[in-house]
Amino acid sequence: MALQRTFSILKPDATRRNLTGKINAKIEESGLTIVAQKRLWLTRTQAEGFYAVHAERSFFGDLCEFMSSGSVVVQILEGENAVAKYRDIMGATNPANANDGTIRKEFAESIEANSVHGSDSEENAAIEISYFFSAIEIVG
Ligand code: ADP
Ligand code: MG
Repeated sequence: MALQRTFSILKPDATRRNLTGKINAKIEESGLTIVAQKRLWLTRTQAEGFYAVHAERSFFGDLCEFMSSGSVVVQILEGENAVAKYRDIMGATNPANANDGTIRKEFAESIEANSVHGSDSEENAAIEISYFFSAIEIVG
């Protein structure tokens, strides 16, 4: 498997509790490298644009409200098999189902406020990266 990039968000529940360092320590311990990073406060419209694939889901409104309720850290992770590796260390969407040692098991507050986002495919990673970053912001 070649070097790959994935897109990561540290969500408002994580920034609110000052957990960005602890979460990024887990990311770096897994062997992934943070090659781009910035802190943003998303508008409601920006959150809706990012989660547009979920527009028909019952939780869409609440999710966009939550994602624009505080600052987030958006970042690009690089490494071997980065998409699957990051999904692995994130753990299941619902922290109640997440494996021990995963970020969501350790830090998530609920199925919604689950501390981190990670792309679910290489194709979506490229789309999500280009939503937030320009080429000159990526050190790789
Ligand atoms: P993941 O983030 O694990 O890829 P999804 O893409 O299915 O999960 O959902 C996107 C985000 O929407 C989740 O991370 C979570 O914040 C929120 N979410 C998912 N399912 C629910 C739900 N049943 N109720 C409330 N929020 C949810
Ligand atoms: Mg998803």
